[in-house]
Amino acid sequence: MRFADLGLIPELLQAVTDAGYTEPTPIQQQAIPVILAGGDMMGGAQTGTGKTAGFTLPLLQRLARHANTSASPARHPVRALILTPTRELAVQVFESVAGYGRHLSLRAACIYGGVDMNAQIQELRRGIEIVIATPGRLLDHVQQKTINLSQVEVLVLDEADRMLDMGFIPDVRRILTLLPAHRQSLLFSATFSEEIRKLADQMLKTPQMIEVARRNTVSDTITHVVHPVDANLKRNLLVQLLRGQPDTQVLVFVGTKLVCGRLARFLEQSGISANAIHGDKSQQQRTETLDAFRSGQLRVLIATDVAARGLDIDELPCVINFELPHTAEDYIHRIGRTGRAGHKGDAVSLVSAEEKHLLADIQKLIKFEIPQETVSGFEPGAGYAETGPQRHGRRNAEERAGHKSGDKSAKRERPAPRPAVAADGFDFSKPYKPSASYDTAKATASAAPPSDRPRRPLAVLLGGLGKK
Ligand code: AMP
Repeated sequence: MRFADLGLIPELLQAVTDAGYTEPTPIQQQAIPVILAGGDMMGGAQTGTGKTAGFTLPLLQRLARHANTSASPARHPVRALILTPTRELAVQVFESVAGYGRHLSLRAACIYGGVDMNAQIQELRRGIEIVIATPGRLLDHVQQKTINLSQVEVLVLDEADRMLDMGFIPDVRRILTLLPAHRQSLLFSATFSEEIRKLADQMLKTPQMIEVARRNTVSDTITHVVHPVDANLKRNLLVQLLRGQPDTQVLVFVGTKLVCGRLARFLEQSGISANAIHGDKSQQQRTETLDAFRSGQLRVLIATDVAARGLDIDELPCVINFELPHTAEDYIHRIGRTGRAGHKGDAVSLVSAEEKHLLADIQKLIKFEIPQETVSGFEPGAGYAETGPQRHGRRNAEERAGHKSGDKSAKRERPAPRPAVAADGFDFSKPYKPSASYDTAKATASAAPPSDRPRRPLAVLLGGLGKK
């Protein structure tokens, strides 16, 4: 199928050709005709499927009749509202709208929090047809009466499941009450929980359900591998893996902001260009880091799940899970950054004994077992083999057994937990010593970078020295 077969107008066909797309992706093939016909839609599609163009192209076509070059703000009321959970996703969608709409005289603006409102107010005053916004900041503008939503014809709710995770659904419901009842509404979500369905009932009228690539499936162009490793050696293994593929750009996922920053500093200390992106960074820092990563200046980007949501980085060859996500579905979101649009990608997970139950959950969800490869010099301790995949279930069974017999030793025989070891491998219970494996990692690295600086891991891990 060609884009021309979908009934798109020449201005949009030209933009698609400019973008280098030759044929519509499955979600585009299904969604574009439904949206062009003016119907409501519920789309089950993950990042990487081409869903943004899937709703942006027909939305632009539906608004094309309003395109005009008048300088009067009254000729440019807000006609489409696209809500996204994060600033990064808002920017990404804005870029798509601007790109696909480049041959049409429609105006778009991106409205998100964490930055001064004045520039946004100035922009809105000019008159804007398509507003891409995060819910909180949009409500700030509503409150200040700097935006008028009474002429909205199309509403898009993107990544509704993430909106729910981030606690934005009450804001979304409030926004719904501010929109004309007669409108077209589109809801996209990678997963459909009971709460998302309830929201869809309130928001959509007889929607068409479109789902591509069954829910919770992963692209078959991705190669998955698990490296079992002790938690305290993860960062050294990461350095070895990164040095083994010096030309590969990598997105590394961690569970918390704290680990994010520490790991970035550790990699920098090891001579690997890295930076962190998480919710505590200012918008400007996040944008700069992301731009540096996109342009290839920055080799490793370390991110938390929330910060990484919506990052659109083309053809990312490799994603590394430094820590497994607590929600199995986030594994799919994370690795959705690689293997996009038919490209090959690697999804590598560093898994410690404490995380085996998370791995079991992920494998259950994706319905296959990920091959495990131990890296020489990083063999996990006996605890890894001993820890059953369903840690909680097994522990409960053991505890029950111990309780019944009154034998307290049943508990003591379980692999010792390591509460003092931070997820980035720093053991707070011991005085700091560089580990033997760290040297192994250095010795086996294919090429130690000439920029290898003296390492100050202790001070750095404690956050004491900051950047060089
Ligand atoms: P999305 O799922 O919207 O995040 O899009 C994932 C990636 O696919 C983006 O980098 C798009 O530029 C790209 N893309 C979207 N549509 C197509 C298409 N028809 N052919 C090739 N790439 C596409």
